[in-house]
Amino acid sequence: MQRLDIKFSKEIGSYDKFNAAQCFNCGTCTALCPMGINILPRILFRYVLMGMKDKLMENKDAIYSCLLCRMCEDNCPEGVRIAENIRVLRRYIGRHVYGL
Ligand code: SF4
Ligand code: SF4
Repeated sequence: MQRLDIKFSKEIGSYDKFNAAQCFNCGTCTALCPMGINILPRILFRYVLMGMKDKLMENKDAIYSCLLCRMCEDNCPEGVRIAENIRVLRRYIGRHVYGL
């Protein structure tokens, strides 16, 4: 059973640069991503907002395969700071998983 971790969600949300909530799932970012990463940000960011830490951790590879090129972000109609959000997730994983 999936365990929700509200503390995790709150910690990520406390970074003022993490602004995934306004995503309305239009798919533009997925269509434009040169890496074909179809899980970022529409799915992974939702895991964060819902406190689904285990699901996020299962998909660490996608987080680290992003080029931070901002192709998605520059075309997001809602101004989601996708690359910065990904950086926030990397910072969280670095601290809590790798002890950096
Ligand atoms: S382009 Fe922006 S609003 Fe559309 S799915 Fe991606 S993050 Fe969400
Ligand atoms: S910033 Fe990452 S998710 Fe966005 S288009 Fe570039 S590689 Fe894809």
